[in-house]
Amino acid sequence: MALKGRIVIDTERCKGCELCASVCPHVAIHMSDTFNAKGYRPAQWADLNNECTGCASCAVLCPEAAIRVYREVPARAVTTTT
Ligand code: SF4
Ligand code: SF4
Repeated sequence: MALKGRIVIDTERCKGCELCASVCPHVAIHMSDTFNAKGYRPAQWADLNNECTGCASCAVLCPEAAIRVYREVPARAVTTTT
């Protein structure tokens, strides 16, 4: 089962370069229709199909370090001995 992830974009740091949107394999990032305080259209997380895996490609490419990635931690298998 694929890991689940989510991201948080600091829209005020974003310069609207669209790199993150172009690299996301699940098309989970779109550009906003509105402007931030600096006059850029910031990226928005729009994972409509809940497909983000937390791969972090978007965050690695972001030149403004505006993206934080959170990834589900798989539960550890518990073994018991008697
Ligand atoms: S972490 Fe990966 S899957 Fe999730 S939004 Fe970023 S590029 Fe897309
Ligand atoms: S890569 Fe960073 S600066 Fe560029 S649009 Fe995405 S969040 Fe904004």
